[in-house]
Amino acid sequence: MKVAIFGAGVAGLSAAIELVDRGYEVEIYEKRKILGGKVSVWKDSDGDSVESGLHIVFGGYEQLQAYLDRVGAGDNYLWKEHSLIYAEPDGKQSLFKKANLPSPWAEIVGGMQADFLTMWDKISLIKGLYPALAGNEEYFRSQDHMSYSEWHRLRGASEHSLQKLWRAIALAMNFIEPNVISARPMLTIFKYFGTDYAATRFAFFRKNPGDSMIEPMRRYIQSKGGRIFIDARLSRFNLDEEGIVDRAFLNDGHVVKADAYISALPVHSVKKILPEKWLRHDYFTNLFRFTGSPVANCQLWFDKKITDTDNLMFSQGTIFATLADVSITCPDDFQQGMGSATGGSVMSLVLAPAHHLMDMPDNVITDLVMKDIHDRFPKSRNAGLLKSTIVKIPQSVYKAVPGVDRFRPDQISPIENFYLTGDYTYQRYLASMEGAALSGRHVAEKLHARSGK
Ligand SMILES: Cc1cc2nc3c(=O)[nH]c(=O)nc-3n(C[C@H](O)[C@H](O)[C@H](O)COP(=O)(O)OP(=O)(O)OC[C@H]3O[C@@H](n4cnc5c(N)ncnc54)[C@H](O)[C@@H]3O)c2cc1C
Repeated sequence: MKVAIFGAGVAGLSAAIELVDRGYEVEIYEKRKILGGKVSVWKDSDGDSVESGLHIVFGGYEQLQAYLDRVGAGDNYLWKEHSLIYAEPDGKQSLFKKANLPSPWAEIVGGMQADFLTMWDKISLIKGLYPALAGNEEYFRSQDHMSYSEWHRLRGASEHSLQKLWRAIALAMNFIEPNVISARPMLTIFKYFGTDYAATRFAFFRKNPGDSMIEPMRRYIQSKGGRIFIDARLSRFNLDEEGIVDRAFLNDGHVVKADAYISALPVHSVKKILPEKWLRHDYFTNLFRFTGSPVANCQLWFDKKITDTDNLMFSQGTIFATLADVSITCPDDFQQGMGSATGGSVMSLVLAPAHHLMDMPDNVITDLVMKDIHDRFPKSRNAGLLKSTIVKIPQSVYKAVPGVDRFRPDQISPIENFYLTGDYTYQRYLASMEGAALSGRHVAEKLHARSGK
C-alpha cells in the first residue's frame, strides 16, 4: 500500500518511520529545500548553523526519545542540570533547583529554597496549585474555558509568582502571555512538574536539532525504502465523485497518486488546501478555529564568552523569553566558522510575545535584543558582536487559547483515504516535538488499523 505524506516536520517524519517499519511504500513531499519544519536548521555562508528556533528535549518526551533511539540518534542529546535558571539584571541568576528527592518532595523542597519567590509566594503556590498536582486529564480539560491567569487568581496563588515563575513558562511553551493561554496546558505542565521528577529535565541536542535528529530520521526512512522529495509543495487535491482523494497536485503540476494521503502540514497550511466539498464536515471547518502564535528566534555570535551557563535560561521583562549559549549547551556544533575562530558565545534567543516584531526590521529587533543582553550579561558590554540572524515565524505552533482544545482533530478524517497529523492534532501533549512525534505514531497506527479492515 502506498502512502503519500505532505510535510517533513517531526510529525510527517515520525509517521513515515512507523509506516516504513510496517512495510508501507512511503513518499514524503516537502515544500522547502530542507527537512524538519519548525526544527529545521541550515548553514549560513560561514558554515554556521542557523536554527528556526531554540529546541529542548524534555525528560517526559518518551515517544520522541523512542524514535531517536530507533533511528540511531539516542546519544545525540545531553541532559543538563535539573533546574530553572532565570537570567536577572546585571548578570545575576535566580534558581529553582529541584532537590534530589522523589516528586513531589523534589519540587516542594526546591521551591522552598528558591530565592526569587517570597514566603507568601511559596505558601500560596503549595495551597493554590494543589488541584493541578492532584488532577487528572479530565480535570485539566474541564478547565479549558479560562485563561491561566484567571485560574491562578481564582486559586488564590500570588500575583508575584504568576509574573515571575509562570509567565516565563507560558511564553516558553506557547509564546503567549498567561492571560491569553488556556489554563489547561499550564495545569498539565504543573502535573508533570510536580509529580514526575525526570519528566521536566532538559536536554539539548549535541549539535542542533537538524543534524542530531532530522538527519538521522531522514537516513532511516530512506534506508527502509521511503522516498523524500524536497521543493515539492502540495497545492490541491483532486476528488472522485464520492469526495475521496483521487490524486494530489504539486505546485509544479506534478501528480501524486497513492492509496492514502496524510497531511503533515501545519494547521494554517492545511486550511489552504482543503477542497470546498469537505467543508460540510465540522471536522474540517473546526480547523479554522486554530491560529498560529507568532514567534522569532535571534542568534548572536560574540567574539568572547558572555556567560558560562550550560543550560536553558528564562528571562523576564526582556524581549527574549528563553535563551541559551548554544556554543556551550551544544558542544558538537556552533563552534564552526565565526565561533571557532574566537571561542565566543553563540546566543540563541526565543523572542516572545512576538506579534509586534513581525513587521519590525531585523536590525531594529537586534538592537532591542542587544540592549537586553547588555543588561542581563554584563560581559557582553566588552564583547564584539560578530554577526546576528533573526528568523520570524508569523504562524508557529497553534495558540492554546481557552476553548480550542476540544476542537483538536483526531488523525482519522471523515474522508476514507485522507488523514491529518501534526502537533495540533489530538494527542496528550501541547504543540511540541513530542506532540508531533505522538501524532505521527497515532496517524500511522490508525491508518494501519483502517487499511487492515
Ligand atoms: C521558536 C520555536 C521554539 C520551539 N521550541 C521547542 C522546544 O524547545 N521543545 C519542543 O518540544 N518544541 C518546541 N517548539 C515546537 C516544535 O518545533 C513544533 O511543535 C514541532 O516541530 C511541529 O512539528 P510538525 O511536524 O507538527 O509541524 P512543522 O514543523 O510545522 O512541519 C510541517 C511541514 O510541512 C511543510 N509544508 C507546509 N505546507 C506545505 C505544502 N503545501 N506542501 C508540502 N509541505 C508543506 C513545512 O515546510 C514543514 O516542513 C518550538 C517551536 C518554535 C517555532
